[in-house]
Amino acid sequence: MTPGRPVPPALAKPIAPAADNTSVETKTETGLLAAAYGAVSGDSGLVPLTLARRTPGADDVEIAIEFCGLCHSDVHATRGEWGGQAYPLVPGHEIVGTVSRVGADVTEFTVGDRVGVGCMVDSCRECDSCLDGLEQYCEKGMTGTYGANDRRNGGTTQGGYSSSIVVDRRYVLRVPESLDPAAAAPLLCAGVTTFSPLRHFGVEEGDVVGVVGLGGLGHMAVKLAKAMGAQVVVFTTSEAKVAAALELGADEVVLSRDEAAMAAANRTVDLIIDTVAAPHDLNPYFRTLRVDGALFQLGLPSEAMPPVSPGALIRRRIAYAGSLIGGIAETQEMLDFCAEHGVVADIEMVGAGQLNEAYDRMVAGDVKYRFVLDTGTLQAPAEEADA
Ligand SMILES: [Zn+2]
Ligand SMILES: [Zn+2]
Repeated sequence: MTPGRPVPPALAKPIAPAADNTSVETKTETGLLAAAYGAVSGDSGLVPLTLARRTPGADDVEIAIEFCGLCHSDVHATRGEWGGQAYPLVPGHEIVGTVSRVGADVTEFTVGDRVGVGCMVDSCRECDSCLDGLEQYCEKGMTGTYGANDRRNGGTTQGGYSSSIVVDRRYVLRVPESLDPAAAAPLLCAGVTTFSPLRHFGVEEGDVVGVVGLGGLGHMAVKLAKAMGAQVVVFTTSEAKVAAALELGADEVVLSRDEAAMAAANRTVDLIIDTVAAPHDLNPYFRTLRVDGALFQLGLPSEAMPPVSPGALIRRRIAYAGSLIGGIAETQEMLDFCAEHGVVADIEMVGAGQLNEAYDRMVAGDVKYRFVLDTGTLQAPAEEADA
């Protein structure tokens, strides 16, 4: 980023309000019963469930899900670690599949298209954020893909560890055919969560991007920043991750507990993408930033962070920012960018029977770098829905 260059405006593709949406009434066929895996309580683990998906309305796209990425949020939500959770709960917001049915007013998708659904399935469609293509910051709250109050049908939204889902066309993404569909699934959350701040900062050829933490988000940040032409420095506490970071394309790895190495990195970085979700001291990272640098925090620790030193920010006009996923238009731009540059996630495929073990391994940090559920392994739905 050229010092002093203004931050570019957000990508905007306004979503038309659904004033004339008659879809709820337009029932031509019955909805599907979907095979799924989800939690029935905070300590149940994931068990087989059956979901009643709604009848596709005029603006709806019914998707036969092929793959769904496992995000750390899924673990917190199903285990009730964020409180107030309604059960049963089917998680999953990194969804890739093919269109199986479309409503009468859907012109942009046809049966057989490969599509994706990320972290949201609706928003108010009329506030300033929604009209600016920033639906993730909807003033009335976006509707999360799972575990959210369903503003359309009532009840709770249910996610992608499932054989099918029905989503309004305005929240469905086109997944380019050149991307491997399983490895593309994590782009819908981990990909866009890191792409959005990189784009918002205006990363370009020759910028130096620091990445703190090398998990699901961090590995996407490395790949995307490299594809944008940046030099990438990975900061990690773990010597064991040095080789892995270089393998992913990082130009340099700094052990953040090595004070001499951190001192040597003083004023070398333009932008830091911090993906660590545990409390940690940011001040040493601010010292690696140049004038007009920025640190975007993407992880949301459940406990308080150590205090930020205002002096560290003031002396270099550093911005300390946060960022949440990306808007629908920006998510599409990210998928198209990934197709153009051949970027996908590094994944390990799991079947439905391995989900609980996969959750334990995620908590232990034992995955390179994202698990993806093959929904072909879900058993057939029961005759009656659980949710
Ligand atoms: Zn996620
Ligand atoms: Zn809104």
